[in-house]
Amino acid sequence: VLSLSEEEWAACRNDAATLLEHLGLSGWHTSRKFRLFCCAAARRVSHLNELNADELLRVAEADAEGKADTADLAKALAQVDEYMHPTNSRVRRRRYARFKAQRWRWNAVYAALLALAPSRQANEWRSAVCIAKLVTWPPEESPAAELSAREALVRDIFEDPFRPASQRIDPKQLSTAVIAMAQGIAADQAFDRLPILADALEKSGFGDPAVLAHCRECSAHARGCWVVDLLLDLGVALYVEPVAPPDAAAYNRTRINTHLPPCR
Ligand SMILES: [Zn+2]
Repeated sequence: VLSLSEEEWAACRNDAATLLEHLGLSGWHTSRKFRLFCCAAARRVSHLNELNADELLRVAEADAEGKADTADLAKALAQVDEYMHPTNSRVRRRRYARFKAQRWRWNAVYAALLALAPSRQANEWRSAVCIAKLVTWPPEESPAAELSAREALVRDIFEDPFRPASQRIDPKQLSTAVIAMAQGIAADQAFDRLPILADALEKSGFGDPAVLAHCRECSAHARGCWVVDLLLDLGVALYVEPVAPPDAAAYNRTRINTHLPPCR
């Protein structure tokens, strides 16, 4: 399934990749949004990442917002590349053997790499789909919790493309108090303040039910949360050109690469 109906979108569970494919192929996207999904999903598995994942993802997030230092970015990329493809052949053999036995570790680092350099999978959207599909749990563990969290991330970062609140609310009409509150939440990543923001929005006459429900009921927010982005007029998932032609046959021919690096 590439393009979903409204019912399919609402009913789709634990399948972030299908939701992301729909968003990309139907044109509901910004590159920034897909990158922020990559960062948030990579953060979920940063405990498996033996590199300094916090620093790598801080750089990736800054770059998604167009604010990364180029030297920081180059350094982070070099670090990940050296880890995944060590130049020393003995280190490389050992590491590949370990990756083969613990594939999820490689995948956790790969997620951070794609967050830093989405062009390694053609573009931001393909990187997001790839991370959504990565196996980052050992075989004895159930994937349900992780897959459900990835679905929640998509639904937090991207608004419902069938009923976009961004077409009902013009951020330019918001009061400066509401905007300042949203700026504070974004700056501190303090999503626990969203219910207070909902009250302020309602009082100032912006009682959009979808926005209020998201502020009051959603418990999992990430950088790029669609409500905060909408209020700050920040690359909301407005309709733009599809990232790829909606050609199912061509899309199915291109395989997402989640394979181990070749052992040389
Ligand atoms: Zn949110």
